[in-house]
Amino acid sequence: MAERHPGGYRVHGRVPIGKRDPEERTGDYDEVWAPEWDEAHLKEQGERCMDCGTPTCMGGCPIGNIIPDWNDLVHRDDWKRALERLHATNNFPEFTGYNCPAPCENSCTLAKNDDPVTIKSIERAIVDRGWEEGWIEPEPPDARTDHEVAVVGSGPAGLSAAQQLNRAGHHVTVFERDDEIGGLMRYGIPDAKFAKGRIDRRVEQLRAEGISFEPSTEIGTDLPATDLDEQFDASCIAVGAQDPFDLDLQGRELEGVHVAMDYLTRANRAVADKPVDDPIDADGKSVVVLGGGDTGADCCATAHRQGAEQVVQIELLPRPADERPPDNPWPEQPQTYRKTYAVEEGAAQEFSVDTKAFEDTNGDGRVDQLRADRVEWETDASGDHEKLVIEPDLTIAADLVIIAVGFSGPQTGPFDALDLETSGQGTFVVDDDMMTSVDGVFAAGDAVSGPSLIVWAIGSGRDAARQIDQYLTGDSDLPASLETPNDPLVSR
Ligand SMILES: Cc1cc2nc3c(=O)[nH]c(=O)nc-3n(C[C@H](O)[C@H](O)[C@H](O)COP(=O)(O)OP(=O)(O)OC[C@H]3O[C@@H](n4cnc5c(N)ncnc54)[C@H](O)[C@@H]3O)c2cc1C
Ligand code: SF4
Repeated sequence: MAERHPGGYRVHGRVPIGKRDPEERTGDYDEVWAPEWDEAHLKEQGERCMDCGTPTCMGGCPIGNIIPDWNDLVHRDDWKRALERLHATNNFPEFTGYNCPAPCENSCTLAKNDDPVTIKSIERAIVDRGWEEGWIEPEPPDARTDHEVAVVGSGPAGLSAAQQLNRAGHHVTVFERDDEIGGLMRYGIPDAKFAKGRIDRRVEQLRAEGISFEPSTEIGTDLPATDLDEQFDASCIAVGAQDPFDLDLQGRELEGVHVAMDYLTRANRAVADKPVDDPIDADGKSVVVLGGGDTGADCCATAHRQGAEQVVQIELLPRPADERPPDNPWPEQPQTYRKTYAVEEGAAQEFSVDTKAFEDTNGDGRVDQLRADRVEWETDASGDHEKLVIEPDLTIAADLVIIAVGFSGPQTGPFDALDLETSGQGTFVVDDDMMTSVDGVFAAGDAVSGPSLIVWAIGSGRDAARQIDQYLTGDSDLPASLETPNDPLVSR
């Protein structure tokens, strides 16, 4: 068995699994990630882990992944046990191993004054290996209860809740409005970031475990929301937070101005060879994406692949600093600039630009230009930020504008008949047991937290499953998301 070098991080530098060359990858819709990784390299990366007495990486992980254990097991070439440790806290490690912004790496002790362990690459390698070796198999329950549970929404929250509840023996039906399972991972996140076969493979596993899926079924339209209360012993609403913020600016009604999900959904459907109503194509266009976040980056990357002439991503706020500001020390999540994959591929970024209007200069009803002010942000003595115009009336060529300024909350209308309590942000209010204001109706994921991350959604689905199991049976053996499994840690 390989002995761990006590100072592995001094011997090996941080080398994550890489990405494909930007020029090559913008020519197709395959994942940007390098398809192959090398076992010896990952073992070295695992050896960089110090197996800290207080693993701050775990504190940074929203589902309490037992990170030092898998780092050690990979280094020791025990990939199968590493996979077991991974699955102990995360139903779908490839959803996170490919997509997570890895808050754990920012919290890694090494990140204080060195480069953190490549936790995300190691996670991906373990689960890749698990699928290759055939170690990931359906795990149907040994015994069934008589309880029927409905899960509404098939994103990471709905899927993790469904798998946990099914493993507890309940009969689970997942209702999904879209024609395919997966939530935002299906029609939001582009194929270039996450290949859809990875979802299909899990859905096959879940079906084989006994879960029923009802796609193209919107609760509140195709089935009354009151069915959740009346036809099922319990239910979990995991409908995400996909209601977009819009920009109510002059010219918003012009053709060629769209919100991000309308663009991404159509683009992802086209890549999947699905019928698309009113396609939105960036081919040959000057594309402006409003919003400097990750959804904006996904729009830029998609536009490049469709053959856009140029892509500009505009952000109202200033560019974050390259180094942590003094009031943002480790192990807080760093508020620093991150170069996105879309910028690597040639998207131009403009910060401190305040869009004023969408314009149609030739009167054909289509947007062809954007009017904006360049601004500067000043902070006054009380900490309030003030916007000062330093360059008014800039014009930017734009014959396709994508508004990617975030999401407000879940679409609650379909659930009106249940009269569920909602928060000021429009999310569903749940109590400490994750139950909504209606007995037996629980909620999880972005529908409760507001827009978040896959890893939080998985954890929330797991927590809701445990609470539902407890509600139905009076007890539960299902783990909560931040509960370390009750078996001896292998690495200490
Ligand atoms: C473009 C984009 C890119 C992102 N990239 C990342 C990333 O790289 N990494 C990351 O960690 N996070 C990312 N996120 C965030 C992440 O996708 C979400 O936090 C996560 O998917 C939330 O999971 P969820 O299960 O709560 O909801 P969702 O994934 O939103 O799933 C909810 C599902 O419920 C369905 N639904 C809604 N209403 C009904 C109804 N009435 N009846 C039946 N079904 C219904 C919806 O169709 C949807 O399929 C991204 C988000 C976007 C928009
Ligand atoms: S904080 Fe970093 S070095 Fe310490 S146990 Fe976690 S991954 Fe290893």
